Amino acid sequence: MPNTYDPQNIFARILRGEIPNKTVLETAHTLAFHDIHPQAPIHVLVIPKGPYVTFDHFAAEASAEELLDFHRTTASVVAMVGAAEGGYRAISNAGVNGMQEVPHYHLHILGGRVLGRLVERA
Ligand code: 5GP
Repeated sequence: MPNTYDPQNIFARILRGEIPNKTVLETAHTLAFHDIHPQAPIHVLVIPKGPYVTFDHFAAEASAEELLDFHRTTASVVAMVGAAEGGYRAISNAGVNGMQEVPHYHLHILGGRVLGRLVERA
């Protein structure tokens, strides 16, 4: 997937305050909010505020401060929403094969039920 960032994507619009969100936690570099169509009792999206398209784009190009803030915020979110107790899954979809819908890097934190196998057999 090319790392060309579309500033009109829905998460960019959420970050600009054009679309409301149910915020779990916000820091200087990171926003965590509830997914609008939850796939599990716990379904939170964690996004960097910077213009990164995928996990690998973020991992390759974000500053050390952004990377640290994103991961420490994710850890706080996991604790805040009670995902750690029963276990959870952190997923990031990328590109066509990953069936990524929103081209702004995000980590799904899913929990609150047994989530099944990681991928379906083809
Ligand atoms: P992806 O398929 O890109 O990994 O996941 C995108 C996620 O964003 C989906 O789970 C979808 O429900 C969620 N989503 C899409 N639009 C909105 C929105 O406007 N608000 C919130 N909170 N979540 C959204």
